[in-house]
This record gives sequence, C-alpha cells and structure tokens, in this order.
Amino acid sequence: MKGTSGAPLRAGLDTRGRRLHDLRISVTDRCNFRCVYCMPREVFGPDYKFLARDQLLSFEEIARLARIFKDHGVEKVRLTGGEPLLRKNLEHLIEMLADIPGLDLTLTTNGSLLAKKARALKAAGLHRVTVSLDSLDEAVFRRMNDADFPVSEVLNGIDAAAAAGLAPIKINMVVKRGVNEDSVLPMARYFKGSGHIVRFIEFMDVGHTNGWRMDDVVPSAEVVRRISERWKLEPVGANYAGEVAERWRYVDGAGEIGVISSVTQAFCSTCNRMRLTADGRFHLCLLNDDDLDVRAALRRGEDADAIGAILVRAVAHKPTGHQLALGRSTTARQMFQIGG
Ligand code: SAM
Repeated sequence: MKGTSGAPLRAGLDTRGRRLHDLRISVTDRCNFRCVYCMPREVFGPDYKFLARDQLLSFEEIARLARIFKDHGVEKVRLTGGEPLLRKNLEHLIEMLADIPGLDLTLTTNGSLLAKKARALKAAGLHRVTVSLDSLDEAVFRRMNDADFPVSEVLNGIDAAAAAGLAPIKINMVVKRGVNEDSVLPMARYFKGSGHIVRFIEFMDVGHTNGWRMDDVVPSAEVVRRISERWKLEPVGANYAGEVAERWRYVDGAGEIGVISSVTQAFCSTCNRMRLTADGRFHLCLLNDDDLDVRAALRRGEDADAIGAILVRAVAHKPTGHQLALGRSTTARQMFQIGG
C-alpha cells in the first residue's frame, strides 16, 4: 500500500519503540451482566442510554478497518465489548474477518451465550476464546455479575468452546480484595490439568464509576504466592514480545496460569495493543483518556490511505505510560466501552 506521496504507509514504531500488533475491537457497549467492578447496576440501570444502532460501526466498516490494520502490521484481532455475543449475527462479522489472510482472530466473552454459539463461532472462522469467570462459588459469582447468572452455565460454555475446538481457552478472573480473593485457589485447582489457562487480573481503575481503591487490589505477587504455597510453580518466558500476562507453570506438568499486573507492575514499555470502540474511536491506552475518531473518516468515504494515515497518527501518539502513573484516574470511558 502506498501513501499519497507514493511512499509506503505503515504504522511503524511509536515514541517508545513499540510496534502495533494487537487490536481489540469492541462490537457493542451492551452487556447482560452488571459486574460490580465494571458496570455497576446503580450507574448503568434501566435509564442508561447505550449507543444507538447508527452510532455502532457496521460489520462492513469493521472489516474494512481490520484489513487496513492488517496492512499496517496488526496480526491479532480480539473481538470484545460490552458482551460481544449480544451483537446480532456476530458470526457474519467473524466470517468477514476470517477472510483476511494471516489474521489471528479471538474473542473475549462472559460465557453466558457460549454454550449456544461455540460451534457456529468456530465454523465462522474464530480461532480461540477467552472466558471471564470471577469465582466458582455460586454466591460470590452471582454477587459479582449482579445478574443472578449461575456458574454452571459459564462452565457449560467453556466445555462447549473446548468441544468446538476454540482452544487453548483462557479464563480471566479479576481478583478483588475481600470479594473473591478466596476463590483464587479453587479456581486454580478446578482448571489445573484441564489445558485451559486461568489468568488472574488485578482490579483496575478504569472510568470513574467502579469505586476503585488501591486497597481493593490483590497484587499478582500475592496470587502467585498463594498458589505456589499449594502447588510448586516456576516462571515461563513470554510467548511473544509484549504479552501482557506473566506466565507460571505447574512443576508437576499440569499446565500453567498467568497473572496480569496492570496496577502493581504496569507493562507500558512493551504494550503493543490498541483498542477500537464500538462507535469507531481508537483508544490508544486502556488507562488513558485520549482517543481519536475514525468513524467520521470512514463515513466520509475516505480511501484506505487516508484511513491508514489516521492509524499511523494514532500509533505515533500512543501514550508512553498510564495516566495512573501520574496520579490521575481515567474518566472519559468505562471498561465496557473500551473492551477491556
Ligand atoms: N463481556 C466480555 C467479558 O466479560 O469478558 C468482554 C468485555 S469485558 C469489559 C473484558 C474483560 O475486562 C473481562 O475479563 C472483565 O473481567 C475485565 N474487566 C472489566 N473491568 C475491569 C476492571 N476494573 N479491572 C480489571 N479487569 C476488568
């Protein structure tokens, strides 16, 4: 692809020498859960106005952007939300994205609709899924998802995904002090030896509605210590440069776990991901408010070079580090609007 000057146009390295590799695309801001740390029901109740249909990027717009991103070096796309499986006919979008040669295609879901949809997702061309599950304890999980959703249905979804071949499956557990920290060991025990990889995530301060306090963060180092007191663990190298999870393997050969230490050990220096919101804005860093509109350019009918130039500009402006490091919270967008 050529820029208007005739020179190749590619999103190169940003000011910290990081190369864009991973793009998360949010396909909706709606969710059927009201996780207390993400979308508290008191704030996002029946009167909350979600994006209208015409504000959402269409499947054609998303697929067009994904092709342009691929031409600029993106190798992996993760569909997310809100809850991505709530977007009607998502399989059709997956088919369109699966047509882009060489693109690794994954999806993050709360698992509620996975038992029903896993086979169709695989048939459409999805490679893998990550499923969020914060506890195996029924009362704790229902309290956290605040939608009275049972653990068993998420587990059924995970089984269906494995049977459909959407593996290896990652299970994301956000650990919140005093809420589900006692679920860490049972979660590790349940998935140990299953081939699925549980990743324990530090509770992050995104947006201004989740009442985040440092006291509520369970540091990853503590999670690793708790698990290694029960089963011996050893560190494993990253699968690829910029992998967010720090990997640990069970010495007895029963698989691995990961920890994501966004708060206690931010990994900004190797971050190679960007996010596209459901209404078509590039979000350059999860823990920063900056974003850049791309939907307007798409809808003005701009060509691939002009759209690519927005991406190049976005990469160049990717913040060098978290706003939190400057002692400020993000305020503009909530996690469910950015996609996690
Ligand atoms: N609905 C899908 C799901 O549940 O996985 C995708 C969207 S959700 C926003 C993506 C991930 O972000 C989930 O694993 C969720 O637990 C995580 N998440 C949301 N708010 C968070 C927070 N404040 N700190 C850490 N992780 C958070």
